[in-house]
Amino acid sequence: MARTVHIIGAGLSGLSAAVELTLRGETVVVHEATTFAGGRCRSYRDSILGMTIDNGNHLLLSGNHAAMRYVGLLGAQHRLVGPPKAEFPFVDLASKEQWTLRINDGRIPWWVFNSGKRVPGTHAFDYLPMARLLWAEKDRAVGEVVRFTGPLYERLMRPLLLAALNIEPSAGSAALAGAVIRETIVAGGEACRPLVARDGLGSALIEPALELLHKRNNAVKLGHQLHRLRASDTRVETLDFGDDTVALGADDVVILAVPPYTATALMPDLQTPTEFRAIVNAHFRIEPAPYQPAILGLVNSTTEWVFAFPGRVATTISAGDRFIDTPRDALARTIWSEVAAATGLPPELPPWQIVRERRATFAATPEQDALRPGPNTRFTNLFLAGDWTNTGLPATIEGAIRSGRRAADLVAQGAFSGKVDTDFPQKMQPTKEARMRSGSA
Ligand SMILES: Cc1cc2nc3c(=O)[nH]c(=O)nc-3n(C[C@H](O)[C@H](O)[C@H](O)COP(=O)(O)OP(=O)(O)OC[C@H]3O[C@@H](n4cnc5c(N)ncnc54)[C@H](O)[C@@H]3O)c2cc1C
Repeated sequence: MARTVHIIGAGLSGLSAAVELTLRGETVVVHEATTFAGGRCRSYRDSILGMTIDNGNHLLLSGNHAAMRYVGLLGAQHRLVGPPKAEFPFVDLASKEQWTLRINDGRIPWWVFNSGKRVPGTHAFDYLPMARLLWAEKDRAVGEVVRFTGPLYERLMRPLLLAALNIEPSAGSAALAGAVIRETIVAGGEACRPLVARDGLGSALIEPALELLHKRNNAVKLGHQLHRLRASDTRVETLDFGDDTVALGADDVVILAVPPYTATALMPDLQTPTEFRAIVNAHFRIEPAPYQPAILGLVNSTTEWVFAFPGRVATTISAGDRFIDTPRDALARTIWSEVAAATGLPPELPPWQIVRERRATFAATPEQDALRPGPNTRFTNLFLAGDWTNTGLPATIEGAIRSGRRAADLVAQGAFSGKVDTDFPQKMQPTKEARMRSGSA
């Protein structure tokens, strides 16, 4: 009898694993606790604004190759949009200065030598110390490796690393910061083009995956929360969903793609990150200003990024824990006054919504990074996925999608070789197709 791969969690890591396995002809069942798919990356209808919004503005970069592959497999590339070049307009709300960072294509950073393209107030040699992050030891914080004062830090490194790590950068893991810089800025403009899901995260990243699974007759069970894993010493035997249980066949496999706090509730001996950081998003029902860029960075302000969508302007504050208890209307007013000052939109507060995700990502400190497990577990038929597993990246869409693909590769690898490589390297395992092409399958 053909085996079934049970995927627990329909966030991006679970869906990425499901898509990979479905396309390899596996029978997949996705079990999701809530009544919607997407997890921390979802769209929903907001009754106050009367429109569909995302739980948070999500920015991708064209160099997020696993995410690009994922949308490619789904035929949804066109649903991620952005400027044709790697350009990032900024406004400094204190000095009122405006500039656009323009990262040239190719690996030689000519932009650093061009005062019209680099950050105003900086010199080419200011950028050199950034390279130290590329070789940083895993136990180092950004603040221990590079100086975190001055225009380069305030106007480029802080906005970039705060968005990528979701923690005050000086305390963030230098190795994770280095990984982000290596895959984006160092790779040149082709890898730094900003991309957003203009019509919502759901239509770009979630619904196409659900459609593919449906077309291939693979089930996505919503409202199906895993309560317990029952296991022998070496393998998981039964999945307990409360009202029903699933007894696993000899070849059946499980991918646990839930948040870390759920994973430890199901497997108490599992070590995972334990600290988290919030992200605060505000959404305003208003047409963006004429010529307002799709993404605008603000410095010397509470608001960090302003996104322009059709009929809506939305903002992001990363590491937003300090605003978790701020009265919502006060927060909306503060943010809107900054948006109005930066864009020229009218100062009157439009209809608004504030979305605060308390545990948006694990805290990307060196200490928490060291707690991230790999995909293998002590059970031969259970693998882990999730942005909090050890992907070498901070908690991002790219990391989540990579982790799902990595778990899918391990499942496939077990099927072909009859055993699972427990010493899984950081590097991605080749897909079945890649191994067939190279003749090693
Ligand atoms: C506000 C916000 C803004 C962000 N901005 C960006 C950004 O700009 N760029 C970027 O790259 N990343 C961003 N991220 C991070 C990105 O959203 C996450 O990295 C990614 O969505 C994580 O996916 P995941 O599958 O690992 O986890 P999750 O999305 O948490 O998925 C886990 C799923 O498991 C389900 N589940 C939990 N328990 C059970 C159970 N017992 N049984 C069955 N199902 C269960 C959950 O309901 C959930 O659907 C942002 C996150 C937030 C919250």
